Amino acid sequence: MASDNLRERAFVIIKPDGVQRGLVGEIIQRFERKGLRLVGLKMIHITLEQARRQYACHEGKPFYDSLIKFMTSGPSVAMVLEGRDAIALVRKLMGATDPLKSEPGTIRGDHSVDIKHNLVHGADSLESYQHEMPIYFAPDELFDYELALTGWMYYR
Ligand code: UDP
Ligand code: MG
Repeated sequence: MASDNLRERAFVIIKPDGVQRGLVGEIIQRFERKGLRLVGLKMIHITLEQARRQYACHEGKPFYDSLIKFMTSGPSVAMVLEGRDAIALVRKLMGATDPLKSEPGTIRGDHSVDIKHNLVHGADSLESYQHEMPIYFAPDELFDYELALTGWMYYR
């Protein structure tokens, strides 16, 4: 069931393949059109240290080294999105990790064919959000503001 927290925050990275393929606008637009709003946005070149901290949970897995190399290979776009159930919603809009399982209509399902080069990262729980977001954003880089359309998109 949908929660009453209209202010849940989600952390997303458009990976280096998304930037290279010119899909930054397309991906951001999908989140915005759904009803999530940007509260933080920036282009970054992820450092080795940041990538290792972010993906600490995957250390030792067969794909780990290749994932770290990929994530640090060029600029990415990091963002924080806000809205009801933002974390679960972002994961739904992204689609599954495996390209054979990501449904058409999702970002990965519509635009990627590879399990590594899958365009987008999204923290998958509140714990992951709390671990990952501060690696990239300082508190003064996030913005609190009201959208006039909120009352037309969300019941209060
Ligand atoms: N990945 C990979 N090979 C795999 C599984 C994952 O290269 O067999 C990469 C892929 O880029 C994925 C990331 O590692 O997005 C993190 O994996 P996770 O299982 O957490 O997937 P996600 O949460 O991104 O859907
Ligand atoms: Mg994951």
